[in-house]
Amino acid sequence: MDELVWRANVHDHTVTTEALPESWQRLGGRGLSARILLDEIPATCHPLGPRSKLLFTPGLLVGHMLSSCDRLSVGCKSPLTDGVKESNAGGTTALKLVRLGIKALIIEGAPAGERWWVLHLSKAGGRFEPADDLAGLGVYAAAERLLARYGPKVAVSLIGLAGEMGLSAAGIQNLDKDRSPTRIAGRGGAGAVMGAKRLKAIVVDDTGGEPPPIIDPQLYRDAARRFTQALMAHPQTKTYADYGTAAMVQMCNGFGGLPTRNFSAGQFEDAVAISGETLRDLIIARGGDGDPTHACMPGCTIRCSNVFPDASGRQIVSPLEYETIGLVGSNLGINNLDAIGRINRELDDLGIDSIEIGAALGVAAEAGLMAFGDDERALALIDEIRRGTPLGRILGHGAAITGKVFGVLRVPVVKKQAISAYDPRAIKGTGVTYATSPQGADHTAGLTIRARIDHLKPEGQAALSRTAQVNMAGYDTLGACIFASFGFAAAPGAVRDLLRARYGWDLGEEALQVLGRQTLSLEHQFNRAAGFTRAADRLPEWMTTEPLPPTGAVFDVPEAELDALCEEAR
Ligand code: SF4
Repeated sequence: MDELVWRANVHDHTVTTEALPESWQRLGGRGLSARILLDEIPATCHPLGPRSKLLFTPGLLVGHMLSSCDRLSVGCKSPLTDGVKESNAGGTTALKLVRLGIKALIIEGAPAGERWWVLHLSKAGGRFEPADDLAGLGVYAAAERLLARYGPKVAVSLIGLAGEMGLSAAGIQNLDKDRSPTRIAGRGGAGAVMGAKRLKAIVVDDTGGEPPPIIDPQLYRDAARRFTQALMAHPQTKTYADYGTAAMVQMCNGFGGLPTRNFSAGQFEDAVAISGETLRDLIIARGGDGDPTHACMPGCTIRCSNVFPDASGRQIVSPLEYETIGLVGSNLGINNLDAIGRINRELDDLGIDSIEIGAALGVAAEAGLMAFGDDERALALIDEIRRGTPLGRILGHGAAITGKVFGVLRVPVVKKQAISAYDPRAIKGTGVTYATSPQGADHTAGLTIRARIDHLKPEGQAALSRTAQVNMAGYDTLGACIFASFGFAAAPGAVRDLLRARYGWDLGEEALQVLGRQTLSLEHQFNRAAGFTRAADRLPEWMTTEPLPPTGAVFDVPEAELDALCEEAR
């Protein structure tokens, strides 16, 4: 089966297929997304306008249920940052796209009217179907209706009310392996682009589809075995299986980098109450739907996800993750996992990024719109988003807009995207990543907290971030989960051999870095064409002057090192 580009035009509702241009063939996931953005989207266009496009590009390794390697990249010009955007998600969408031979799905054009549509993809091709009955529904209700309409085995990518309203923090939700619409491509507003195309959902029926071909099956089996064994033997795999990403709460708190009350402190006095250990104990004690270790996609052996139940055992949300706990928990002074879970559920149903909204609510608290620790008020503000009130729309456009409207100076953003749950004054390598990543502040673009380095010292942080950014851009191009990196790092040559076995390319010993550097270069080029200058590659000024309790740290990595990193990446 040939791997093709599928184009869906939302103006005339045609879906066509075409061969891949030469320059797209050796790319996938985040790298392919960046290449298409550069080739097809005017960098200065309006992200929600007629010349903007929305891209779905599975990673290069997607299709064979290699552990944690079936991720989807969603690409666009970001309505939040106005720069390049790749937001990736687990779940089942990428796997099914690849089984239909779809290397890239490009959604383009300007909708001709106000109606809402579903894009249905299958072996028979693509077609648009009316979906006005789904408009106004939350993600959970819409997903249920779509599964009833199209059958329980399809994959679904869909937006909630946030995407329908064009809010800059809107994401795109994907079904996990248990049909729950909880795997969000959350960052940067891709859901708003989908809403601007009047698409409520994309349904992928892979009936009759097949896994992509492998050129050298024996080499593939050997490399896959080496990778899987290394992954299973890695001590972090057990940590993430037991505690999920929430294991980071106590670790980050220990470093003094846990966002607390709008990033005014780096340690939260109630960190234990919202920690991975407490979360796990609670899930096990409550039973019912609860599951402390859960896979978001078929074949994942790490299973960092979870299902968090209420006191009666009924699912509140899945998964409850570190970033959400950090941004809507400690960052809002909320010390109660049930409250954090309820807020997370509401945000998932709206189809909106919990990191961005957590940061926006922190800024709102600073502005006096809520008291830190008041979870009921946080839920009331989120209800403003659901009702599309002026205040709700301000919050739904993220922390930067919220700060501007209410005159708050302590706004934790880079390139207008909210800083995630690692305060960059205490974890300076990640601060460099926030500042210099073309994506805007994003921990998944190059997290450094596991490095054995003094995170408070400025020396060595730029080099550390550079390595992390290149590697992560490589993994995102492969379609590999950030935690698959434990296995790849411990199985030298596995990336090279998997690519050789599947495609017949030999990218050499540094295959991962070759892909990563290429991807970053394309992204920096897009941002430069969009008008970004060095001024965008900085942390907020207050983070360079305002000491962070209890360490007293400020962000002091020299600006020249930030500039050198970006120059080199281009
Ligand atoms: S490790 Fe977690 S996020 Fe990664 S694929 Fe597995 S369940 Fe999904």
